[in-house]
Amino acid sequence: MKNLKNKHIFIPIIVSVFSIILMIVSNYYSKSNNYVLYTNFEKDILQKKISTVYLTNSESINVKLKNGSIYTTDNPRTNDFKENLLKNGIKVSEQAPVYLGDVIPAAFLSLSVLYIVFISLKSSKLSSKKMFAVDALDTDVVKDIGINFENVAGNEEAKESVKDVIDFLKNPEKYHSYGARMPKGIILYGEPGTGKTLLAKAVAGEANVPFYAMSGSDFVQVYVGVGASRIRQLFKKARNHGRAVIFIDEIDAIGKKRNGKAGGSEERDQTLNALLTEMSGFNEKQGIVVIAATNRLDVLDSALLRPGRFDRHIEVNLPDIAARKKILSLHLQNKPIKDIDIDDLSRKTSYFSGAKLENLVNEAAILACKDNSNYIENIHFQKAFSIVVAGHEKINRDHISSKDRNITAYHEAGHAIVSMKMLPEDKISKVTIIPSTKGAGGYTLSIPEDKMYQNKDYITKRIMVTLGGRAAEEIIFGKNHITTGAYSDLKQSTKMITSMLTQYGMGTSLGLLNIEELSSIDPSASNLILEECKDKLNEIYESTKKLLIENKHLLETMSNRLLQDETIYDKDIDEMIC
Ligand code: ADP
Ligand code: ZN
Repeated sequence: MKNLKNKHIFIPIIVSVFSIILMIVSNYYSKSNNYVLYTNFEKDILQKKISTVYLTNSESINVKLKNGSIYTTDNPRTNDFKENLLKNGIKVSEQAPVYLGDVIPAAFLSLSVLYIVFISLKSSKLSSKKMFAVDALDTDVVKDIGINFENVAGNEEAKESVKDVIDFLKNPEKYHSYGARMPKGIILYGEPGTGKTLLAKAVAGEANVPFYAMSGSDFVQVYVGVGASRIRQLFKKARNHGRAVIFIDEIDAIGKKRNGKAGGSEERDQTLNALLTEMSGFNEKQGIVVIAATNRLDVLDSALLRPGRFDRHIEVNLPDIAARKKILSLHLQNKPIKDIDIDDLSRKTSYFSGAKLENLVNEAAILACKDNSNYIENIHFQKAFSIVVAGHEKINRDHISSKDRNITAYHEAGHAIVSMKMLPEDKISKVTIIPSTKGAGGYTLSIPEDKMYQNKDYITKRIMVTLGGRAAEEIIFGKNHITTGAYSDLKQSTKMITSMLTQYGMGTSLGLLNIEELSSIDPSASNLILEECKDKLNEIYESTKKLLIENKHLLETMSNRLLQDETIYDKDIDEMIC
């Protein structure tokens, strides 16, 4: 764009420079070359050679001879000069003669100047238009995205969670006729490079609808109102097409929680409001789904997450060993490989995201190419591995991560075993040591039966499960090697125990009193309560430890299994207990 503009403006500039030079030169020539002495001029008058005299007020006058040639001479500025000329039969013109040599460059000059003005006006209009128009913005509208579920390896749970949305996009009228309300907005959240963009594209590809993509940071501009206008144009474009997937990457750039302070970003608020308005604007029949991606869900403004907006939240996790194998295999497809131990590679790449795995394969391919090798071989992967890992961290990552993995494995197994033993009716669907946005590792409970009331025994057992991670760490690694990994567990158990003793009337120091009602009367009660909470929590912790010590063999088995497979599912867990 810039080059083009430069070329256009180049020509008139050259032309005007030439014209100016020409005018100066011709002016100079007409003055110097054709100067004739006044006495010679008088002779010409007598010889009747002169046809016209151009009489102006300037110091010199132009004289045109009958043979057509022109010269200048001095202006005598006498009062009867004109009369004399006229008496001698000479025409007198009171205007300066028009020289073609002067007129043409002047004409070119003014044309060029006009043209330059025109171009700069046009381009400034264009750039101001660009700021407001989404067309000029890089909205990647892809009609035939060419990516489907086959291009997404692993991420099975996330894929499962969007299947109905794809069906809806294919046939929105069907859903409408059943009166079913589909989510208008979906948020994909998880670490960078886990394939959120890829998944959104696959949704569009599977449903065979166009894919409109923009990034949240594109909306946040210096000028107030631009972001909001861009949102409206983006939606207008998508609506005109009919069914579509609108993808907004980095939604946190516009949808971050508003921090009560005044003078926040007005621009961001306007943009966010425009987005929410647009989303409530289209109806169920239209078949438009907005998919947004973010690294963290907890930073988003709750206005964004309310029903009717982005009310489906799908976590996209880092791949476990099985998923890594699938991703590696996918990216190695159609590449010339020889003797590659994919299992070993999957084992060595824990905590790698999909993007990092893709990067690893690519580096190996480049190295093989540099070597002029016919195949990509294990040696290339070994080298590529150090390149990719070194690019991310300097310390011996292998060592650190194996130690971390070990701790995480025992910690998560601790939670899982206490849960299995104490609350067998709360089924565990999955235990993993793969970190998520909520922290390292985790276990997933399948949703327990809805209970209207939780009794004291149940809450106590839940606290035991929460403390199971820390207890396992202490049993295996010793009191001096407990870690910060239990941070959020301890927060949660503290919350549970204090609610038990101060709100539900399940303790002794307060009895049936509720702390909130009491605080205005007797603030001194707090020490007693603190004491009781601490004692009670310690007591629960000791029984958790006792339980895990009794089941130490199970703790070992499960941890080893976690270190090997990284994720274990309910059926494996059932097997383990029998
Ligand atoms: P995110 O949007 O979560 O940051 P991307 O979708 O941009 O991640 O992923 C970047 C690249 O990493 C993808 O284009 C793809 O090549 C690779 N990738 C990530 N996850 C997967 C996956 N599950 N299967 C296959 N490739 C993946
Ligand atoms: Zn924990």
